[in-house]
Amino acid sequence: MAISNFGGDNNEHLVRALSMLRVAAQKGSEGWRRDAECLEMDTDLFFPVGQTGEGWEETERAKSVCCGCMVRSECLAFALATNQQFGVWGGYDEEERRELRRSMRRRSAGRRMVG
Ligand code: SF4
Repeated sequence: MAISNFGGDNNEHLVRALSMLRVAAQKGSEGWRRDAECLEMDTDLFFPVGQTGEGWEETERAKSVCCGCMVRSECLAFALATNQQFGVWGGYDEEERRELRRSMRRRSAGRRMVG
């Protein structure tokens, strides 16, 4: 899946997140966590076991919380910059982030070949 295929609301957060990547990886740049919609929530919801059945339902519930989160872009940027392998971050589950990373690598490789 290409980055441009992450449509609608997701795409807006993705573009912002990508622009924040370098900042997100810097130590001490995690002040955004104070404004997280999930701050007081059970973190288990954001780290479901499995991707089918109850795990799928928890993933969808976590994503719906992310939809209303004011630091969604910052959260996604942090997850990408620090290579978080598990859980829902910024409204993206682990498989979606893996696909994002693959897409980013392909775009980066394409630019190197052109440049
Ligand atoms: S985007 Fe989702 S996981 Fe990230 S801080 Fe907000 S609610 Fe939590």
